[in-house]
Amino acid sequence: MWRSSIGKIERSRRVIRIGGDVPQVGTLAFGIVDRGTNVIEVRPTTLCPLSCIYCSVNAGPDSTNRWAEFVVDPNALLGALEEVVRFKGIDDIEVHIDGMGEPGVYPHLINLVRGAKSIGGVSKVSMQTRLYMLSEDDLKELASAGLDRINLSIDSLNPELAKRISGASWYDIERVKELVVRALELGINVIASPVWLPGINDSDMVEIIKWAKDTGLGRGELPPVLIQKYIPHKRGRRVRLRVMTWKEFWNRIKNLEEELGTRLSMTNEELNIHRAPQLPKPFGINEDVKVRIISRGLIRGEFLGVIQPLKGSVMHDRVISVIADPRLENVLIGNQVKVRVIENSDNIYIGRLI
Ligand code: SF4
Repeated sequence: MWRSSIGKIERSRRVIRIGGDVPQVGTLAFGIVDRGTNVIEVRPTTLCPLSCIYCSVNAGPDSTNRWAEFVVDPNALLGALEEVVRFKGIDDIEVHIDGMGEPGVYPHLINLVRGAKSIGGVSKVSMQTRLYMLSEDDLKELASAGLDRINLSIDSLNPELAKRISGASWYDIERVKELVVRALELGINVIASPVWLPGINDSDMVEIIKWAKDTGLGRGELPPVLIQKYIPHKRGRRVRLRVMTWKEFWNRIKNLEEELGTRLSMTNEELNIHRAPQLPKPFGINEDVKVRIISRGLIRGEFLGVIQPLKGSVMHDRVISVIADPRLENVLIGNQVKVRVIENSDNIYIGRLI
């Protein structure tokens, strides 16, 4: 069933294959995001068959603002990743496969995990997923490819509520629970990361924690559950509810920890997340750059550009999301334009046509 949801997206949006000729740094939509720690985010696809009611990146068949999706060639990703790992020069790197889509639908996931794990300096490979899209055989291959941990997106154990939150009538929480057991048996650690939607899945938090503890999530090394606070995002799907303050959220987490006798939080030190060299930013804010527009960007009114000239290295080459009138599509794609950089934090480049 999830495949027909992907088919629906493919028929309604442009799916762009990103190859080795496109820089892998510069956008949140795909490639590599380096936030200056030992955790490197690797983003292979924006496709997702679900339409979660709170999705911060507005993914899935029900997306209201996307006009393209991306799927990246695994060799392009791995080549860039190797260079970033070498640049960092440390030996406790965690490669975290996530993104603005569901990595479980990426057709080259096993190769990506195997390739990432074989890079000297990478000590862990983890991924964020709903798990439903993977089979037992996939899990077996992922385990032998070296996947260490799954961060499981799961918001309710109640089958009807789980379908409602995920925006997919075919989403089956019982199947997800079976896959979790299988992953643990295969040696892949699993931790649950539900999003707490006050007034919608309050009692579900307790049920998820009890189930996660009983099933052995975290394997005693990590808390079985790390609850996420719901934060409405400007371009994401929003749920009508009263948003918790951070103070209220952490008080409620503390109360749950006491009530259930389980740790539900961890410091960065305990998770072995620490600062590490960050890729340089080759282009500054307000700098005018030459850009070749190669396709639509993820969101309507955005185009994907490659800053010229290229040097063939992640230290320099960047893609940039260029904001422009969508009606200019036929004029822009395939051509070179001048763009002013308006954002570059963490090497995520946004620019405006000048
Ligand atoms: S929250 Fe994750 S699983 Fe849900 S629609 Fe968004 S990307 Fe897909």
